[in-house]
Amino acid sequence: MNREQREKYSRQILFAGIGEAGQENLLEASAVLIGCGALGTVVANLLVRAGVGRLRIVDRDFVEPSNLQRQTLFEEADAREALPKAVAAERRLRAINSGVAVEGVVADFTPRNAAELLSGYSLILDGTDNFETRLLANDAAISFGLPWIYAAAVGSYGVTMTIRPGHTACLACLLETGEESAAHSPGFANEATCDTVGVLGAAAGAIASIEATEAIKLLAGKQEALHGRLVSCDVWAGTFQSIRTSRNPDCRACSRREFIYLDGEAQPHITMCGRDSVQIHERGRALDLGMLKNRLAPTVDDVRHNEFLLRFRIAPYEMTVFADGRAILKGTKDPAVARSLYARYIGA
Ligand SMILES: [Zn+2]
Repeated sequence: MNREQREKYSRQILFAGIGEAGQENLLEASAVLIGCGALGTVVANLLVRAGVGRLRIVDRDFVEPSNLQRQTLFEEADAREALPKAVAAERRLRAINSGVAVEGVVADFTPRNAAELLSGYSLILDGTDNFETRLLANDAAISFGLPWIYAAAVGSYGVTMTIRPGHTACLACLLETGEESAAHSPGFANEATCDTVGVLGAAAGAIASIEATEAIKLLAGKQEALHGRLVSCDVWAGTFQSIRTSRNPDCRACSRREFIYLDGEAQPHITMCGRDSVQIHERGRALDLGMLKNRLAPTVDDVRHNEFLLRFRIAPYEMTVFADGRAILKGTKDPAVARSLYARYIGA
C-alpha cells in the first residue's frame, strides 16, 4: 500500500477485523455483481469505497424515475437520458474511487455468457430481482467453485446468505427442499415482487449492507468471520432473524451437480420482467441502433436514442431495444404480443 491508500482506507485498517493485511487482500480482490438495482447499487457503493480491486457490474436494464427512491448510485439525469444502469453505475463509481477498476457490462446474465462474465473473478454478488437468475448464479457458483452471496428484498423485508460450494448449503438446498418458507417468507410468494408490493429503500439498504460486509470478509481473507446463517430483517417491524441452514445431501445442484439452469434447460426465450413487461432475449446479433432509429422514426412515437439503446412507443406499448438485440417490452405480459411486435419492428 502506498501513502495515499493508507490514508484513504485508514478507518477500515484501524478496524481490528480487517487490519492492514486484510486491506492488502481487498485491494487485490475481485467480484462480479449481477444486477445493479436497489441491492446492487448499495453493495457496489460500499465495495468500491472499501477499495476492492476490481468490480464487474452486469445489468440488463436502464435507469427510470421510479428507481431513484432506492437505487442510490443514480440521479435524475440518468433517468432522463435512459442510461443503462451498468453504464451510469460505472461512471459514478469511478468518480467515487478512481483506485478501483470498475467495469459496467450492459447484458443479461444468461447460461450462454455466465462462464465468460465470471472468468477471472473470485466472488459472485446477488443484486438481481428474480429467482431464475439467482438459481442460474447458484449453478454457476457451484459449477465453477466460486463463493456467492444471495440477497433479496421486497416490501420492508430482506434476506441474505453466503454460499460457499462444498462448505455451506446452497440456494437450491433451501429452495428446492421444503425449507422454502425460510428463504422466501414473508413476502416472497411467487408473485410478490418490488413491482407488485413495492419496496423500501431502507430494507434493500439494510440487507445489502450485510451482503457487502460478508463480501468484504471473503475478499479480505477473513472466512472465519462469516456469519454462516440465513439472515433476514424487517425494517418496518424492527425485527432481525438468523437461522442455521444445512446442506441437502441429495441437493440437485451442490450434491448431484445437475446444473439445469446453467445448462439452459430452464431459460425460455421470452421471460417476464416486472409487473407488466416481458424481455425478449438477445439472439447474439448486433443491431445498428442508429439505422434502426431512422427506419422506425416515421412509424413510431417518442423515439429516444443513446449509444446503448433505442426506446420508442407504439401505444399502448413501449419497447426498448439494446445493441445486442435484446428488448424489453412494457405494457403486456403476453409472449405472443412481444414476439409479434419484435418481429414487426426489429426483425424476425
Ligand atoms: Zn445445495
